[in-house]
Amino acid sequence: MNRLAIAESVLRCRRCGAPLRFSAREELLCCGAEGGSWEGGIFRYDPALREAGKPEMHARDRQAEGYLAHSKFPTQIHRMRRFIASVSPPADGLPVLDLACGPGPATGMLRQAGFPVLAADISYRSLEVNRDTADPAVAFVHADLTNMKFVEGSVGGLMMADFLQHLGAAEAQRGFLRNAFTALKPGGWFFLSFFNVNLKHRLRANIEGSFGVEIAYRRLEPREVVGMLPPGVEVRQTSFMNIFHEPLPDTIASVLPFARHLARMAILTGRKSL
Ligand SMILES: [Zn+2]
Repeated sequence: MNRLAIAESVLRCRRCGAPLRFSAREELLCCGAEGGSWEGGIFRYDPALREAGKPEMHARDRQAEGYLAHSKFPTQIHRMRRFIASVSPPADGLPVLDLACGPGPATGMLRQAGFPVLAADISYRSLEVNRDTADPAVAFVHADLTNMKFVEGSVGGLMMADFLQHLGAAEAQRGFLRNAFTALKPGGWFFLSFFNVNLKHRLRANIEGSFGVEIAYRRLEPREVVGMLPPGVEVRQTSFMNIFHEPLPDTIASVLPFARHLARMAILTGRKSL
């Protein structure tokens, strides 16, 4: 699959709701440039987004280059790699939806495992950093993740790493999940990580807050997130993740009986029922 075929199979037009179809010149057939256009290998799903933009988009653009140097990545990468290995090799040839892909690294790991990928993010700069033009089997999509329309059952996996906490209030988080899971085929897998509420956060009443003024967060307990999932989504594992420079201390801390009270992040994985 190339990026055009991936986008056509997974996305519906934001304006008219029809599945995307492109001409030989890569123009959108249903709504033309107003419905989106390709630019340097990135599909601008909402052409007005870059100018209108949310404050978070600009903050993420500024972070794009340095993001992967953040100290949280060794543990996160280790966990994602382990999970991706558990769902590999791809069984169905369908793309994986990498939502809030940022500058990576999940997109690259999914590609190494053999999955075609549709990688979406609100930060155009992050997509540019993530983009590998030598790899035709990734469709990079610039979009507001709360405003995407999917072809039902079009992807074999849903990767949603470390951003649910940034989507606003509970109703927005729930609405996002309901919509994202429409894209997943019955039997397809998902990975969903988010900020956990640990003991320190509880004692300091630090459940909601923001990094700077632009990036707001609302930490979540796994049971709250489970309650937000649409019917037919089965959580098979709940685990907790700590932020260390090495994977080993995280592996140890995450199996302690009180892991949930220490961990800064939580991960739900599972399947959509057949
Ligand atoms: Zn259209």
